[in-house]
Amino acid sequence: MAARAVESTARARLAVVVVGSRERWCYKWREIPTKDEFETLRENFTEDPWFCSRRPDCSCEDPADIEYDNSRIWVIDKPNIPKPPPETERLVIMRRDFTKMDTYYVMPNGKRARCAGDVDKFLEANPEYQTRISPSDFSFAPPKVLEETVSNNSAWKAAKAKKQDKANTSSAQK
Ligand SMILES: [Zn+2]
Repeated sequence: MAARAVESTARARLAVVVVGSRERWCYKWREIPTKDEFETLRENFTEDPWFCSRRPDCSCEDPADIEYDNSRIWVIDKPNIPKPPPETERLVIMRRDFTKMDTYYVMPNGKRARCAGDVDKFLEANPEYQTRISPSDFSFAPPKVLEETVSNNSAWKAAKAKKQDKANTSSAQK
């Protein structure tokens, strides 16, 4: 299963757990250097899983790049999400309360598509893209936030404290 380890809403580390079939399964987390590479391997993850020997000079004997623990927030992507079409960018944004992530696409005209309906509207309004972009290239499935990694996170604690402060202030004003 492919995953992202999110340190803050602005900075994410992309990693994949090794469940390769051509070697023994080491279950180590390996960091994927670019979003483009991550999106490519995620697209075919079930048929074509990642394994350590795909990376030059990397073997199962090497220590994991990143350990699964509560020091950062982890979210797990679904496998086999199509690679975003050319001229689009797929973004997932963490909600302020860390309960969920929302997926959207930045379309070639710079506008955001938040659901399949928005993609259809774009293609209707811009028929020149219909040969290059298919509605089936889009998946709005958000990654799943692993709750157990959220509750120990300092950013989450700060957000919660701020919310509590606000509640206290507004009740004091009454
Ligand atoms: Zn390995």
